[in-house]
Amino acid sequence: MKQRLLLITALLLGTLTITAQRRMLNVPELPGYVTLKCDFHMHTVFSDGNVWPTQRIGEAWRDGLDAVSITDHVEYQPHKQYVPIDHSAAWKIARSTAADYNIILVKGSEITRKMPPGHLNALFITEPDSLVKDDFLKVIEAAMAQGAFIQWNHPGWKSQQPDGIPRMYDIHRELIAKGWLHGIEYYNDVEFYPLVMDMCRDNKLAVMGNSDVHGIISEEFADPEYSHRPMTLVFAKERTHESLREAMFERRTAVWYGDNLAAFEEFAAPLFRSVIKAGAPFKDDGKTIKFELVNSSDIPMKLSGGPDGAPATLTVPARGMVIVSADRKFLSEPMAYSVDNIITGSDSVLKVQISPAKK
Ligand code: ZN
Repeated sequence: MKQRLLLITALLLGTLTITAQRRMLNVPELPGYVTLKCDFHMHTVFSDGNVWPTQRIGEAWRDGLDAVSITDHVEYQPHKQYVPIDHSAAWKIARSTAADYNIILVKGSEITRKMPPGHLNALFITEPDSLVKDDFLKVIEAAMAQGAFIQWNHPGWKSQQPDGIPRMYDIHRELIAKGWLHGIEYYNDVEFYPLVMDMCRDNKLAVMGNSDVHGIISEEFADPEYSHRPMTLVFAKERTHESLREAMFERRTAVWYGDNLAAFEEFAAPLFRSVIKAGAPFKDDGKTIKFELVNSSDIPMKLSGGPDGAPATLTVPARGMVIVSADRKFLSEPMAYSVDNIITGSDSVLKVQISPAKK
């Protein structure tokens, strides 16, 4: 009887704890690092969002993320008639849920100003109340005193930059000169700003991509238009809050949005190699060889510009394989391709060389 009771208790606990499934994301990796899937820009009822903070954690867990930051506006509380102003509320409410789901929760706030400087997220802060000040530079100074990572949000947002083209103003150059700007959103919500790749590369900043979600994530990024939310991939030494922070300041990041990856050249090449593997030729008729090209990631790889004697274009599907037929000469010389969906700059994509594995 006792055993049966134990069994029933276990079954009940089981049904209580299994609430939903976490999606496993297959993303490229850098040798020696773990890829953390992150969203550093989200809102709740404590500013202009429509969900309770714990929902953001459940969504992140189901979406396969490792780390998130809830970044409610410091200066904008449209629900204040019903929801008290507390700049730490979302973090305080979500913290224990994040611990229960093994999600790294980064404390953050969105500093919300006209352009320039526009909107900036202060991440890894401890005291969001200290960001309530009129003087913008004093706000950033206060965030920096807490060790903040400062991210410039949606620099080409048409409400603030009508032509949609991001540009640096003197205030941004001043922040960079002081070491007070660390990343820029290349991707926000449903839009991206190609020039941000160059701005980040030239100024040694991290490239960021986030949802800026205000409603329910599965409704804002719904199938089939979106197979996943936009996210920042962070290449960290370990899956910890401290390693995440270290990696971001070292700008080891990339952005995954739609079928695309935006990554600096030095990361793009090893990321590609971590998921695309060529097999040895399984057929050789003396003129043409055939070999398999396998993609272990959730990102299809779209190759173009192939050489004579090889396919001009090749799409290696997500978690899929293609068979490549090519001239025998490619046993000894590599096939050069452009990877059209791995973006390395405002007008550049990753160049790769493919060779069949040696027998
Ligand atoms: Zn925002």
